[in-house]
Formats: sequence, C-alpha cells, structure tokens
Amino acid sequence: MQSFVTLFDLRIFKCLVIYENKICFMFVVQNRQLMKRRNFLKSGAALATLAALPTALQASKNNDSKQSLSFAMLTDVHIFPGEVPEKGFAAALQSIAQHPAKPSFIVNGGDAILDSLDNTEEAIAAQWQKWHQIVAQNTNLPFLHCLGNHDVYGWTNKNEAVKNRADYGKKRFLNELKLQQTYAHTQKGNWHFIVLDSIHPHPKGFEARLDENQFQWLSETLAKIPQNEYVILVSHVPLLSAVYRNVFEGKESELFTDLTDRILAHRDVWRIKELISKHKNIKICLSGHLHLQEEIKYLHTSYINCGAVSGNWWKGALQEFAPAYFVFNLADDGTFNYEVVNY
Ligand SMILES: [Zn+2]
Repeated sequence: MQSFVTLFDLRIFKCLVIYENKICFMFVVQNRQLMKRRNFLKSGAALATLAALPTALQASKNNDSKQSLSFAMLTDVHIFPGEVPEKGFAAALQSIAQHPAKPSFIVNGGDAILDSLDNTEEAIAAQWQKWHQIVAQNTNLPFLHCLGNHDVYGWTNKNEAVKNRADYGKKRFLNELKLQQTYAHTQKGNWHFIVLDSIHPHPKGFEARLDENQFQWLSETLAKIPQNEYVILVSHVPLLSAVYRNVFEGKESELFTDLTDRILAHRDVWRIKELISKHKNIKICLSGHLHLQEEIKYLHTSYINCGAVSGNWWKGALQEFAPAYFVFNLADDGTFNYEVVNY
C-alpha cells in the first residue's frame, strides 16, 4: 500500500511542474479521495471485495471507494423435482458463488417452489425438499426471503381438510424457511432492506396489496430511518409496473383485465406511491412475479422487476427474457448499479 501512495505523490509532483494552478488543484482533490480510499481499504474484507471487482464494474463507478455492498436477487425459482429445474437452480447458485462482485447475501424474491396454492402435500413436500437440498449443496450465503403467491399453502385447494392443517396458508412458508413473519426489516451497512408481503386472500385466490397492519408497520419503519441511509423495498408482486398487462400474451378480454389488475401488480399502488414520495431515501423497489424484466424511474425511486431464475417455468425464455438472476452493487452514498446474469 505504501508504494501505491508514493506513486501517487509522484504524480502530484509532476503535475505541479507541468500544468497550471487550476489543473494542480484538481489533482489535490483526487489525493484527498485517495486518502479516503486508503481508510476504506484498511478493512481486509473491503480489500478483497475491491480486488475481485471486474474492471468494467469498477469503471462504471466514479469512485470505487463508494462501493460497499453487493447482493444477488434471485426470484421465481419455482423449483420442483426434475432434471431441468434442479440443474438450473444449482447452476444459478454456483454462478452467484463465482460472480466477481462477490455478493454477500441473496434476496429470494418469492415463488421459491413450483406451487403450493393447489397441490398435494406429497408434491409440495418434494418441492421444498429440493429447495433445501440444492441451496445446501450450492451456497453458503445467507438469504432474505420474500413470500410469493405460489409459496402459500392451499388457498385454492378445494379439499376442505387442507384448511385445517397447522401449516395452511403462509405458515408452511414460514416453517420451511424458519421465519417469524412474512415481512421484515434488515439493515446491511448504509442500506435498509424492507421485505414486504404482497399476497392477501381474495374469493378467487389472492390479490396483491399490503394489509392495514403491514402498511402501518411500513410507515413507522420508514419514519425511523435517517435520510442519509438508503432503502430497498422488496415485494414479490411489483408495487408499480408498466408491463404487467403483457404477461398473458395477446389476451385482452375483460377476464384477463380483471385478473391482471388483481394479481399482477399492487392494487394499492396509489397509497404506496404517496408513502414513498415522502421518503426520498427509498432508492429501489425490487420485485419478481412477472417473469419479465422492467425498470421504471418514477420520482426518486427505481422500480426494478427482475426476470425469473426459471424463465418460462423451466421451459426456456418467457417472451424476450431468458432465465436470469440479478447482481446489485450498492454504494454508501445511495447510488447503485446492477447486472442481469443469464447464468
Ligand atoms: Zn408469483
């Protein structure tokens, strides 16, 4: 490290000789940034992270000393026993483990398993078993888990006995992933991750919204976060989407309009927008569910809908979108970038 600083000092010296005062001042500013960078590099972990970053990624930042955190967003895995999904999920996790940004954790955006809304216990148990097995064999990273509609047990199952099960509804998801509740707040460095639960009962299955308790909790949680710390909201169903009507390809009947408006984007988007507009530190709203990729910049927030790890439910690409996971790089100053990885 000492030799690096010496080299830099020499560059300053040359500038003083060759350039005019204005130019010299620019280099003095750079020197201060380097000193900040040196402090950052005192952390061995930070050093490892920076050393591992690919050149392109480093170049995309004005100052790589801002880099503080990388994570992988992996959504709509829809795992079930079978060669294609098992190999595919394992390949995605192995790809994350080898990614040069070295993600330090994984966000599961929901729909981890193929389906438990309407399936037999035997099939549901086999799907969760595959999830646990493939995760254990292919990653050591911790997860933040978001509930997807297909992770809910039995809501559209006609068998009355299912309703009496102790793990009916969202309980099975909580049990399998050892969670206390379906929404949560976690701080990672200068960033706060607020995982939301979009899935609520409806006579025809479910609808996407926040219930009153959760909305109140979200409002109170956001109010406690200082403005110089940044927020990512994670929901399975997009809070705001422009492309959600494109999911059911070419279908424009009233039936599908009703369905898309109920299940493909949040019905309470206005109320959520009003809340987000009061918190300028909410930088990203992440979601999955659509299996399509989309980014909307609206007010101060980027709404990024991530494509599915399973693509078209393990049958290749859905429309233009091949199976993918996303890697996000977050800086301490609230800026970020991301990469779509077609693993
Ligand atoms: Zn879904």
